[in-house]
This record gives sequence, structure tokens and C-alpha cells, in this order.
Amino acid sequence: MSTKYVFVTGGVASSLGKGIIASSLAKLLQARGYKVANQKLDPYINIDPGTLNPYEHGECYVTDDGAETDLDLGHYERFTGCPTSQANNITTGRIYQNVINKERRGDYLGKTVQIVPHITDEIKRNIKLLGNKGEYDVVITEIGGTVGDIESLPFIEAVRQLRWELGEKSVLIHLTLVPFLSASGELKTKPTQHSVKALLEIGVQPDVLVLRTEHELNSDLRRKVALFCNVAPKAVIQSIDVSIYEVPIKMREEKLDEIVLEQLGLPLNSEPDLESWKKFLYKLKNYSKEVRIGLVGKYVELHDAYKSIVEAFIHAGAVNDCKVNIEWIHSEELNEQNAADCLKNLHGILVAPGFGHRGISGKLVAIRYARENNIPFLGICLGMQMAVIEFARNVLHMEGADSTEMAAKTQYPVIDLMDSQLNVTEKGGTMRLGAYKCELTEGSKAYEAYGQKEIQERHRHRYEFNSKYREDFEKAGMITTGINPESGLTEIVEIPAHKWFVGVQFHPEYKSTVIKPHPLFVSFIKACLS
Ligand code: GLN
Repeated sequence: MSTKYVFVTGGVASSLGKGIIASSLAKLLQARGYKVANQKLDPYINIDPGTLNPYEHGECYVTDDGAETDLDLGHYERFTGCPTSQANNITTGRIYQNVINKERRGDYLGKTVQIVPHITDEIKRNIKLLGNKGEYDVVITEIGGTVGDIESLPFIEAVRQLRWELGEKSVLIHLTLVPFLSASGELKTKPTQHSVKALLEIGVQPDVLVLRTEHELNSDLRRKVALFCNVAPKAVIQSIDVSIYEVPIKMREEKLDEIVLEQLGLPLNSEPDLESWKKFLYKLKNYSKEVRIGLVGKYVELHDAYKSIVEAFIHAGAVNDCKVNIEWIHSEELNEQNAADCLKNLHGILVAPGFGHRGISGKLVAIRYARENNIPFLGICLGMQMAVIEFARNVLHMEGADSTEMAAKTQYPVIDLMDSQLNVTEKGGTMRLGAYKCELTEGSKAYEAYGQKEIQERHRHRYEFNSKYREDFEKAGMITTGINPESGLTEIVEIPAHKWFVGVQFHPEYKSTVIKPHPLFVSFIKACLS
């Protein structure tokens, strides 16, 4: 069977949840036995979001193959459990880079290189890359941005052409907003009508409309939208405000999966098997315990900057029969004077990843407090590096010990550049990125959590634990419990004398899914509960 395509566009406003709708549809089709891939096209000119400040774009999500991608790919993986890759996230920047490289090579010799057809051809080629693998029944491609934006025009034009060329049915789902005007107590469909009109102006007729709303949409309203927008009434679907993990269930109730399969000409197969998903939802709502975890970071004003960590806590809480309440702690506001006040009511402390000097001292204060007061601690990437620095300064009395990222000339460079980074001058895509093996020490907390000796986790960093100091640390009580077998690099440090003190150079949060919560997060929450 050849791969079928579903496109998801958005109108009226941003942040309506296209990524969640696309993930939910993927989940439902998967639950009916289909092989599905999600893809995201982003209309900005950065080659990838790796060079974007998290304040601009939220978290940068890293895949196994080391692609720095949009955070929607995290949703795709958390919902479907299927690993994504570079092919699942394409930006305008990457499209133009490919076209310009081809132009320089002479691939278009003699021709004027233009948005249509050269840029649109390159977009179509990238959309079909996943389908051409022959591994998927359905590829769901989400177009970032809002219809009507200058930036997303070439993408929509490519979709228009592709749908025409594919001949066989593809489905276009358009997500819009139906606002509620409290003054008149009415739900308004005009923005949806206008948004569909904007799509029609560029030659694209949506097949399914998903209407985001705070209130139930009655059948009159649905019929009205259907009439004005040339879609079948049953293809007008409401997406009521609920927590993200309930959306697949809501979309099932609205029969989104059936409508899409019918339009694609695919059999419905059996009823979707959502047993384990429902079990997770049940646990999410019916917990008997609660914990308070302090998340210490410098981007805490924007929770999306730590999206995967937050979701990993939700997954790990559910299996522990517990609700995880996150207390957001700004690392710049934490100091030795207020540490006890800010941290004393926490059951656990997580120090977040990050880059650069800002907020470092607050992170060190939080780590010291966790270490000295036997509070479960998880340090991720920069959080692990800071745990090493804190230990060097306060236990090993290496005054001024630091990472060469923060203090190039420190006397004790306990965190230092990796050899592979020494001569790197470019910033984009040049870190240690993606999945690497890690071998765990038997008897360690990490080993206990994973229950196996060899694991693979994703990375995104330039600096590392300086092995030169490993012996000093081990003698004083901070030991390496995970190493990369090829390079010998330290991947995990622990303090065995502490209740639960684990720092990891990798990012476990990227691999936590609804069906497979991450073992380190599960074990961390367990420690916080005991
Ligand atoms: N800034 C640190 C490094 O580059 C940590 C990176 C991170 O936390 N992702 O090594």
C-alpha cells in the first residue's frame, strides 16, 4: 500500500494545539493498527531551533539521530512512542539551504531559481521523504504558523501542488478557533469562515475542520460552519479545552480517526485499542499522593522551555500513583540567604539544563541544599555539571572550581570542553548531539532505576566531566556510575551516601512517553515519596 498523506494547518491564532491534534490523530490511527509518522514544517529561517533562545521558541527537542527540533516532535514521541528524526522536522531555513546548495553545485544551471517551483519542489521532496521510505501507512504533516502569514505561504502552496499531484486522496485538516463572546454569550464562527476563505484564496480546500472552543458546539453551529466552508457536517469537529492527554479520547468521541480514514479510502480496521492510554488517564486523575518538586532553571517564566521535563514528571507521577506539583524556582533569584526558605518544603529538586553564566550561582545554592539536607536531587546536563562544581568547591575544597564554559581560566576545570569541541567555531548543530551508549555500574541508583547495564540516551552539550579529577571525586564520595564505552566519558555521577543524588550528562526527559515513563524520573519520584 502506498503511503497516504494528512496535512494539518492552523488559522485565526497561534497556539491552538495543532501539534496535539496531529499527535492525537497519529495515536488513534496507530491504535487501529496503522503505521504512522508525524512531521512538522516550521516557517522560520533558522536551519533548526538549536540556535533559538528558549524564550523565543520553547524547548529544543533532540532526536536519536541528533537533530535539534521543534518541541512538537516531543509530543509526537510521547503520544505514539515512535522515535522521530531529522526528516520529521524541516524549516524554511533548511529548505532554502538545500536549494541554494543545489544552485551553487549547478543543478539548476541556466535557470532562474524561484520560490515556485524550486522552493516548493524542495518542500514537496521533504514531505515525501518519510512516505518514500515505505515504512508508513500514513504521514501526518503539520504546517507551523497561521494561514495568512507571509512565512507559511510556500508551504501551503507546496501542499496544494502535492495534493493535486498525489491524485489519490490526501486529507487536509484545518484547525481554527471559535471564540466565546461573554458580553453576548455567543460562540462566533466568523473567524473560522475567514480563515477557510484565506485558505481557499490560495487554492486549498480543507476536508476536515477542527474547531478549538471553550464551550460545546451544537449541531446548528456545526451545520453553519459546514455550509460556509464546503465540508461535510460530520467533518466539523470540536476540540474542547482539556488537558493534552485527554485529546485523543475526545478526538475519538468526535470520530476524527474515522473521518480521516474514510476520506483516505483506508479501512477502519478494528476499534482503536486505547486500553493502556485510558489506564494512564485514570491514574493521572486518581492519585493518592502528591509531591512538590522544585524545578530550578533560568527560563522558568516560560514553562515550554522545560516541556519534556514537565511531561516526564506527569508520566512518572502517574506510575507512582502520585501527582507531581512543580514549584518553579528562578535560579537568578535563589541565594544563600533565601535558600532554606525557598527550598525547605520540597520533596525533591531538579536542576535544569542550560547554557551560559546567567543563574549559575542559584543553581549551585540549590544543589548544596539538596546535598546537605539529603533531599532527592536530579541534575540534567548543565544541572549535572553544576553538581560536579558544587562538590568540587564545597567538599573537595577546590576553590574557584568551575566549568570552562563559565570561567575559561579556572584553576580547577572540573567541567571542560570535549576534545571534539576544541576547534569548533560554528554554533549551530555542532554539539555532542543525539543518542550515545552508556554503561551503568551495577548497584548504582541509575542501574537500579533502569534495571539493565547498557542504555542509550540523547545528548546536547559541549562540555563534560573532566576525567582527570575522577579519582579525587570518587575518594570524596561522588562517583561515576555511567560511562560512554567508546570514549570513556562520564555520563552519570552519584553520591551513594545520599538518599538519591543523581546527575546525568544526557537528557532523559526526551525519551519519556505515556506508555513508557522514563525510569530515572520514575525512580526520582519514588525517592521523593519515601
Ligand atoms: N552548557 C552546557 C554544555 O554545553 C550544558 C548544556 C545543557 O545543559 N544542555 O555542556
